[in-house]
Amino acid sequence: MAKKGFYITTPLYYLNGPPHLGHAYTTVIADVIARWHRLKGEKVLFLTGTDEHGEKVLEAAQVMDKGARQFVDELSAIFKNAWDTLDISYDDFIRTTEARHKRTVKDFILAADRKGDVYKGNYKGFYCVGCESFKTESEMVNGECPDHKRRLEMRMEESYFFRLSKYQDRLLKFYKQNPGFISPAYRADEIKNRVKGGLKDLSISRENLRWGITFPLDKEHTTYVWFDALTNYISALGGRKSAKFKRFWPADVHLVGKEINWFHSVIWPAMLFSVGVKPPNKVLVHGWWLVEGQKMSKTVGNVVDPLQVVGKYSVDSFRYYLVRDAAFGEDGDFSEKKLVERINGELVADLGNLVYRALTLAEKYKGKVAGRPFENLAPKIKSIERNMDGNRLNQAMDEVWQIIRDTNKYISRTEPWKSEGKNLGNIIYNLMERIRIIAILIEPFMPSTSRRIFDQLGVKPQRLKDAKYRPFKSRIKKNGYLFVKVEVK
Ligand SMILES: [Zn+2]
Repeated sequence: MAKKGFYITTPLYYLNGPPHLGHAYTTVIADVIARWHRLKGEKVLFLTGTDEHGEKVLEAAQVMDKGARQFVDELSAIFKNAWDTLDISYDDFIRTTEARHKRTVKDFILAADRKGDVYKGNYKGFYCVGCESFKTESEMVNGECPDHKRRLEMRMEESYFFRLSKYQDRLLKFYKQNPGFISPAYRADEIKNRVKGGLKDLSISRENLRWGITFPLDKEHTTYVWFDALTNYISALGGRKSAKFKRFWPADVHLVGKEINWFHSVIWPAMLFSVGVKPPNKVLVHGWWLVEGQKMSKTVGNVVDPLQVVGKYSVDSFRYYLVRDAAFGEDGDFSEKKLVERINGELVADLGNLVYRALTLAEKYKGKVAGRPFENLAPKIKSIERNMDGNRLNQAMDEVWQIIRDTNKYISRTEPWKSEGKNLGNIIYNLMERIRIIAILIEPFMPSTSRRIFDQLGVKPQRLKDAKYRPFKSRIKKNGYLFVKVEVK
């Protein structure tokens, strides 16, 4: 059976705190891409979820005086609610504490072991006695545990390893044969160079990890990170032998932040080679969000809570801002001032105003709405399609906005308030058809605004194939403004 659906994933979010701007950005981008493919009529599977094991989760639970199970149940529900609020159209939400996931973890480790890719060795690393766990170099601060402010000790512990080093050549060959695998392309170079420099085998179990999946080859060990987290993309399909797997694998897009590109572009394909599964089609890497030019951090106190932002403005204006303001792949810089400027300038003055003015005219007009397109939109829509398919989302958005602005200019130029009869019918025909097409094109970005425009036009939500002029069939029911101007002090 051939693959028949478009499969897109976000990383599983690690449960040591509530969702922030970074999580929201990844998830919104994934949602825009998923909605775009649905708009094209494809069958889409959009997966997100939460990564719930590990020492950090246990510590966070203890700080709140909660059991780990209660803690992850509550926090994963908070993530899910946040995505529902942001109008995220996920099809599945997976949690690494679920039985369906544990089955896949076990299957993968046993299969890799049968392949001869798992062995017992000694893991040497920096250990914090206070945390009773190893710290990675990125977690250490001046050789100390940041939580206990105490010097880390070099310790050795028994651990199972995955033979990552074995896959160096195969990975390099794979990158060569699949030049679009890591995207944008400039994100691929750093990965290839590191792989060329050699790969170390990967420690995949811990003896003293108290919250995780028992290592299937040795019950004294717990599965550590890699086989626990990355396998979720297959768990959600029901394992590598299910019908859903045949339908949706390889994943079309693993959307990731640049800090986890390595895991998805190197470790994950090597694990898949080991168990005999094809790697995903694409790892799509996005940048980070700074806040007013600074890195977001709890210490600085500038962590942006997405729910607070959408409470103050609106879901669609927040989604719009995130996609439009950062060139995809590069870092963005979150600024409330810029958000307000975009709301007032683009959403209120360009889009909201256009729809309100045009619908007011159409509602008053009692004649026949018919005529000829004043412009052939097909080449513009083709270009938007190319940019969307190439995941250049902000560029696609710029082009949609050009159509909106051209429609506003058309109103100023034709002065419909001075027109009548057939001439006016032609202007209104152009306006109504263009607004309907705009509502289709903005759906991935601003789903509820799109729905509200369709409602006011009195037509059902439509797909990309309907984004062309056709005989006028709308029944206008004007219903207020789409966006409200934000008063600036
Ligand atoms: Zn510590």
